[in-house]
Amino acid sequence: MKRLALDTPIKDLYMVGKTYASRLKKLEIETVEDLLHHYPFRYDDFRLISQISQLQPGEMVTIQGEIIDCQNVYTKTGKKLQKAMVQDSSGQIEAVWFNQPFIPQTLKPGVKVSLSGKVNFFGPKISLVSPEYEIINAKGAKKRPIHTARLVPVYPETYGLSSKWLRSRIFPLIEKLTPQISDWLPETIKKKESLINLSSALQKIHFPQDEKEIQLARNRLKFDELFLIQFNSLIRKKNWQKNKTTHPFTIDQESARGRSSPGRKISKFISRLPFSLTSAQNKALKEILHDLKKQKPMNRLLEGDVGSGKTVVAAVAIYAASLNNLQSALMAPTEILAQQHYQTIKTLLEPLGVNIALLTGSKKLKIENCKLDIVIGTHALIYDKVKMENLGLVVVDEQHRFGVEQRAKLIKKGRAPHILTMTATPIPRTIALTLYGDLDLSILDEMPAGRKQTKTWVVPWEKRYAAYNWIKEQVNPPAASRRSGEKAQAFIVCPLIEESDKESMKDIRAATAEFERLAKQIFPDLRLGLLHGRLKAQIKEKIITDFKKRKLDILVSTPVVEVGIDIPSATIMMVEAAERFGLAQLHQLRGRVGRSDQQAYCLLFTSQKDKESLKRLKAMEEYHSGFKLAEIDLKLRGPGEIYGTKQHGFQKLKIASYHELKLIEKTKFWAQKTVNKLSLFPLLKAKLKKDKIKNIEPN
Ligand code: ADP
Ligand code: MG
Repeated sequence: MKRLALDTPIKDLYMVGKTYASRLKKLEIETVEDLLHHYPFRYDDFRLISQISQLQPGEMVTIQGEIIDCQNVYTKTGKKLQKAMVQDSSGQIEAVWFNQPFIPQTLKPGVKVSLSGKVNFFGPKISLVSPEYEIINAKGAKKRPIHTARLVPVYPETYGLSSKWLRSRIFPLIEKLTPQISDWLPETIKKKESLINLSSALQKIHFPQDEKEIQLARNRLKFDELFLIQFNSLIRKKNWQKNKTTHPFTIDQESARGRSSPGRKISKFISRLPFSLTSAQNKALKEILHDLKKQKPMNRLLEGDVGSGKTVVAAVAIYAASLNNLQSALMAPTEILAQQHYQTIKTLLEPLGVNIALLTGSKKLKIENCKLDIVIGTHALIYDKVKMENLGLVVVDEQHRFGVEQRAKLIKKGRAPHILTMTATPIPRTIALTLYGDLDLSILDEMPAGRKQTKTWVVPWEKRYAAYNWIKEQVNPPAASRRSGEKAQAFIVCPLIEESDKESMKDIRAATAEFERLAKQIFPDLRLGLLHGRLKAQIKEKIITDFKKRKLDILVSTPVVEVGIDIPSATIMMVEAAERFGLAQLHQLRGRVGRSDQQAYCLLFTSQKDKESLKRLKAMEEYHSGFKLAEIDLKLRGPGEIYGTKQHGFQKLKIASYHELKLIEKTKFWAQKTVNKLSLFPLLKAKLKKDKIKNIEPN
C-alpha cells in the first residue's frame, strides 16, 4: 500500500475494502480524514475495573481475567447463545451473548480478556450480559484496551457498521497520522479562545482519558465547525459584492425632477394602498430601498410570518425598478402561487403603467422581444426561458436560500441584479447568523392590524365526526340562523405521505382518495374541489378562482400545493394526520386562514395517542407565532428534524449546535477579523479550498 495520508481514499485503508467503503459513504466518509472527523456522540464509561467477587447487579463495570470455557449453546426455543466462563484472582462469572456464533473461536480457553458491560441477572445467576470484549494479551504483548476499561466512544452508525468496527479503524489512525495533521486555525485565535491543537482534539474526541478531555476536544471541534461556516458565508458575501449592478436606482424624494421623481411616485403608491403599512413593513422597505440605491448588488432575505404582508413590500421594490427602467423577475415555487402573484401585482401596479407578464408552462412567452417590466413565473420557468436584457431585480418567494450557483446564472456581462428572497420559514437568529451570514436580513415581526388569532383545536379520533358536523354547520348554516355573508369556506389538507419538499405521487393518490370519500360520504351536500400539483395549469386556476368566488365550499388539497395561497374568505383549515407535519409546517398551513378580520379556525386531526406527539400538537393551540413554534420543535425534535435537509434545507451540524449563541457570535467575530487577512494564513486558505471542493455551501 501507498503511504497512509489524510487524503487516502477510505477503501484503501487496511481492513476496509469496497463493501465497507460503500457503507462508510452513507456516513459521508470517503477519506481517512473524514473518518478522523467522524465524532462520537457519546461515551460508555467503562473505567471502573472490578474484582469479579465484588460485582453488584446494575453496575457498569470492566473485569479482566482469563477465559476458562466458551461455547455456543442452544436454548429450548432453538436460539443460539454464547456463554463464556471468566476467572480472575477473586472468582468466576459467566458472560452471555446472543447470536454471535463466532465468539468461541476468539475467546478460547487461556486467553486473557477485558470485558465491559452491565452486571445483571441472567436467569438466577449474576452475569455479564452482552458485554464488550477484547483480548488483552495478544501475541504475548499486553495491548491497550480500546473497547473496554476506558471511556469508550460510541459513534453514529449505519447498517453493517458498528461502533466497535469504527473504533478499531480509528484507533491506529490517530497515532499514525498525528504528525500529518496541520493545524489551520490561526495561533492568535487558539490562544485568545483557549483552544487546544487540532491533532490533540482529534485524539481526545475519540479516546479521551476523562470528561475534561472530552470538553477540551469538543470546544475546539465545535469552534472549527462554526468558524468555517461563518468564514464561507463571508467569502460568499464578498464575492457577490464584487459584482456591479446595472446602475444604482434613483429613489430619493428630493430629486431634480421634483413631483415626478421615483421617490415621490413610490410614496404616492404607498399612500394609495387600501391599508397603511405596518411599521415593520416600512422598516423593511427602507432597508431594501437603501440597498437598491447602491452599485453593489443586494442579497437580502425578507423574513416574515405567514400573513405578515411580504408581497406588498416586494411590489414596491418592483415598482422602484420599473421607475428606474429596469426589469424584474418574480419567482414563485408553484404555478398556483405565480398565478396569484400575477393577480396581486397586476392589481397593484398595472394602473401605474407597469407591464406585467405571467409565464406558465402552457403559455410560453418570448420575453426578449417584449417591453416588459416584470415577468412572473415559477423558478424553473424563469431560469430556462427568460433572457432579460435589463434585469435589475429578482424577487424569490417562499425560499430562504438562493445559492451561489443560482445567483451566478443571473449575472450578465459582470452585471448582477439585486436579489430579494422572501420566506415565512422562521429562521432562528442563531441559524441566520451561522448559515446566512452572507445575507442581509429584514424581518416583518408584526402582523397587520385587526387580525384575530386563529382558534386551533387538536381533534382526536373520537371527535372526528363531531368535527365534520361542525364544519358542515359553519359552511352551510341552518337557514334559520343564516345571515348574509356568514357561510364559511374550508381547506382540507390531506396527510403527508412522503416527507419531502416536493409533492409525491403517493400524496396525490391519498388526496384524491380522501377527496372522493369526503365528497360522497361526509359532505355530499357541499361543493368540493380537489387541488394537487399534477393538475393542468388551467384547471388549477379554475379551481382556485371558483374557490375565491365562493363557487366551492371546501378545497381538498395535498400538503404542499397551497404554500402562500391568499384567499381571505376561507376561514377553516383542517389538517389530516397532523402529527406527520412539523410545527413550522402546520403553522404555514394555518396561515392560509385568518387573513381577514373574520374569526378563523384550525382543526388538527390526529389518531395518535402517544403523549409526546400530542404535546407537540397542543403547542399549536397555545402558540401563534412561527418563531415560538419553531423553537418548540427545535427542542422537541432536534434540529435534524425541523431544520434537516428534508424540510427546510438547513445544514446539519456535526458537533456544534444552533443553540449556542455565544459560540456562534464568537466564531463570527473571528471570521470577520480574519477574512480580509487570509493571505497571512496559508494553512487556513488551503483548508477552505479543500472544503470548497467538498461543496460546503449550505443549501
Ligand atoms: P405573506 O407575508 O404571507 O406573503 P401576503 O403578502 O400574502 O402575506 O399578505 C397577506 C394579506 O395581508 C394579503 O391579503 C395582503 O393584502 C394583506 N396585507 C398586507 N399588508 C397589510 C397591511 N399593512 N394591513 C392590512 N393588510 C395587509
Ligand atoms: Mg407570500
